[in-house]
Amino acid sequence: MDVNLVLRSTRVITPEGTRPASIAVAGGTIAAVLPHDAEVPAGARLEDVGDLAVLPGLVDTHVHVNDPGRTAWEGFWTATRAAAAGGITTLLDMPLNSLPPTTTVDHLRVKRDVARTKTHVDVGFWGGALPDNVKDLRPLYDAGVFGFKCFLSPSGVDEFPQLDQDRLAASLAELAAFDGLMIVHAEDPHELAAAPQKAGAAYTDFLASRPPAAENTAIRNLIDQARRLRARVHVLHLSSADALPLLAAAKAEGVRITVESCPHFLTLTAEEIPDGATEFKCCPPIREAANQDLLWQGLADGTIDCVVSDHSPSTADLKTGDFASAWGGISSLQLGLPAIWAEARRRGHSLEDVARWMSAGPARLAGLDRKGAIAAGRDADFAVLAPDAAFTVDPAGLQHKNRVTAYAGKTLHGVVTATWLRGERVYDRGVLTEPGGRLLVRGD
Ligand SMILES: [Zn+2]
Repeated sequence: MDVNLVLRSTRVITPEGTRPASIAVAGGTIAAVLPHDAEVPAGARLEDVGDLAVLPGLVDTHVHVNDPGRTAWEGFWTATRAAAAGGITTLLDMPLNSLPPTTTVDHLRVKRDVARTKTHVDVGFWGGALPDNVKDLRPLYDAGVFGFKCFLSPSGVDEFPQLDQDRLAASLAELAAFDGLMIVHAEDPHELAAAPQKAGAAYTDFLASRPPAAENTAIRNLIDQARRLRARVHVLHLSSADALPLLAAAKAEGVRITVESCPHFLTLTAEEIPDGATEFKCCPPIREAANQDLLWQGLADGTIDCVVSDHSPSTADLKTGDFASAWGGISSLQLGLPAIWAEARRRGHSLEDVARWMSAGPARLAGLDRKGAIAAGRDADFAVLAPDAAFTVDPAGLQHKNRVTAYAGKTLHGVVTATWLRGERVYDRGVLTEPGGRLLVRGD
């Protein structure tokens, strides 16, 4: 295939480091990463973005699109527009909050049919592991889901019940037979039941109701199960830094476990959350600043593999009330990159680190071999970033269907000026093209 596009920048973030380069693109694929002054082949278009940074398109493996069924909360159209505006070129949809949930092959078909014409970025699907669908796991995997999500405590929606330890073992044993990945909401229901449950507006009461012990115990049990069954598991949305030594030891021992954390745990703190501010409610909760410092250490030393949004919006009315009754979920799809970059740069990290945490890491988790790096043979997915530009978050500027967000009024660093998907510019300074995303199937 002939090179039809050359994207040139003095700051291209490659797996080997940041360098001036010209990225040659042919048919939606990166053909070569050439020197900055490489000659542009005849017939190819040159896009020179000067000193703007070019990152591999971000991969967000934790997004609740809620479509169909709870489309008042979000939907494929709005979620993928927000993703494109945030430099994300691939998202994986969580199996719950949509109706139906992605727990059978028929349900997956329904979801794919709804998504097909609406996606502005590439979209794949996680399946769901429920107490009664072990027989559905293999067929779902063969139909192309990237792995399976389960809860160990109530999920927040009745149609997606949690697994107890015996059911978790049964599902993990089934997955181990075909080397499937289980991604786990790890909070222990017994620890939660033992914690003080005090409804009200005080954030400290909410925090006390979801203690670190709930995460630590669930993760300890998960490590034991993964070791015993030789299963492949992933800890979703780690908030408790207490669990990091456990996780690091398990990894060193060879247990097949990976870990993600989220922008809200890494950039927001319990100390700054006003009472009654339920836009900050999520489970597990945002913890104290000292805990956050340890999470950053976990990122720096590689115990935490990736940073993904856990974008989980609802309608504004469901985010009202007190901390016990409000919907638990933070809306951040479009803001993850500038939120993380603002904090990362303050802590002395580089854009190469950010690309590792938000693109290469999640791509590796999901087995998306064509995504996650600016290298020959990968999809020509790029986020073009003005790294030093600051902006204040105005919810009116978000593409999310519901604009309640914990980041309102925050000053963040890094403005996404353009997003490229398989060699096409799908976002350009506030303007989105028609949907050109693909539905991804595991193994394709
Ligand atoms: Zn989630």
